[in-house]
Amino acid sequence: MSFSSKIKSLRAPFFKLFLKGKPEFICPLCHYHGPFKDKKSRLHAKCPKCGELERVRLQYLVYKKVFDQIDTKNSTILHIAPERSLSAFFKQDFGKYVSADLFRQDVDMQFDVQEIPLEDASVDVVYASHILLYPHDDIKAISEIRRILKPNGIAILPMPIFAEKTVDDFGENVRWTHQSGLDYFDRYRQFFDHVDLYYSHMFPETYQLYLCDNDTDHPLYVGNGKREDIVPICYVSAQESY
Ligand SMILES: [Zn+2]
Repeated sequence: MSFSSKIKSLRAPFFKLFLKGKPEFICPLCHYHGPFKDKKSRLHAKCPKCGELERVRLQYLVYKKVFDQIDTKNSTILHIAPERSLSAFFKQDFGKYVSADLFRQDVDMQFDVQEIPLEDASVDVVYASHILLYPHDDIKAISEIRRILKPNGIAILPMPIFAEKTVDDFGENVRWTHQSGLDYFDRYRQFFDHVDLYYSHMFPETYQLYLCDNDTDHPLYVGNGKREDIVPICYVSAQESY
């Protein structure tokens, strides 16, 4: 556990007292039990002990479910823009763990996801959350991720859902070049054998995996101020060669 995570976990009991009377949940990552903190207008978003958000809790549970029956002791995972909490689990589970980022120094490799400096069919799993919002050519980035995966490889590529349809905006000052809609996962289907979608409602309510920002117009709004989040899992078939 890093120094900052230790400090955060020491604060948890105080938050629990401060948040007394609010709904209580369980964090699947650190096993904290109690109220979660709000993040601006998003209610019950953040675990006060490990600091992780609802989307990471969902991603972790999907990861555990998908890899439950898969032996990864001899497998390699490439974790792009690594979340610290998830990297600890990946390091435990996989024979080889490689982290990467475009800018960060605390990683094993630095590269642009539109041109990944790895051999064809050289990794078993790629994990890259909310990354494809940024590259100019996201289709090239998806094809690169597909290229480096072995037969039977798996890519976990979550994206935030902004609306029904994806908006691509190549303006200079935009924050996100690709504002992913519900149709965004069709881009994965051009390259992968099949894509499974996992939704918040597929897991117990006690983990609080919804985005609670009362966005009633959102296509994934399900009532009570909540909308679903999605984690896509992309599969390469056994025989397929790129
Ligand atoms: Zn936690």
